Amino acid sequence: MYDQLPILLQRQEIDNEIDKLDIEKARIPAELTNLEAELAKHNAAFQAKNDALEELQKERRNKERQLAMQQPQLDKYKSQRLAVKTNKEYAALESEIADLEQANSEIEDEVLELMISIDEAVDEIEVATSELATQGTTYKSKRRRFLAARRKLNKQIAVWDEKRGVFLDKISSGLMRRYDNWRKRRGSSLVAVIKEQSCGGCHLTLPPQLINEVRKEQELHMCNSCGRILYWEKEVEISEE
Ligand SMILES: [Zn+2]
Repeated sequence: MYDQLPILLQRQEIDNEIDKLDIEKARIPAELTNLEAELAKHNAAFQAKNDALEELQKERRNKERQLAMQQPQLDKYKSQRLAVKTNKEYAALESEIADLEQANSEIEDEVLELMISIDEAVDEIEVATSELATQGTTYKSKRRRFLAARRKLNKQIAVWDEKRGVFLDKISSGLMRRYDNWRKRRGSSLVAVIKEQSCGGCHLTLPPQLINEVRKEQELHMCNSCGRILYWEKEVEISEE
């Protein structure tokens, strides 16, 4: 069983690589959603500015209609000036005319203010239009980048997947099951390489006797603290000639 550990270790490295790529890939949909939400927010703000302008223009039209409607009445009063007989009647007529003219002048002031507001709103929309165009371009280029990143990740994953397949028939089904279960439960490596007398998984120092057992390369031995299968990597002998 122990002799399968180097192969399982290679398989494990590949699986870890794929996991890393999968995590990166899983982030992309959320990034795209954020990007779209951002654009929608800008669009909504732009739409609100347009709605506000329309509202101002509508108000202005209403006021101008009101002025136009009052004009015949004013003309009628003015034409009656020639027909009145008494001072009292004349005074009453003059008062009506003055009231109406006062009301009209107030409406005219309001129309003037509305025209100023409309000019300001038009300017704002002009700025917002060019901002929106910039945001649209930014959105498109960011989106393209995310989609390209995803395509690249998919390709990388496919390459690793192919390499992974090679190990399938070289590892016993019992050990493979144990490995798969471990990954499912713990999501990390089952095989831990011993490094400087410590478990490569949990980094705790191992008893020398356990290390000696592992170095016999016969049976599988587990780390007492994390339960990973321990593996001793033979040092490469450098021949000096
Ligand atoms: Zn450990």
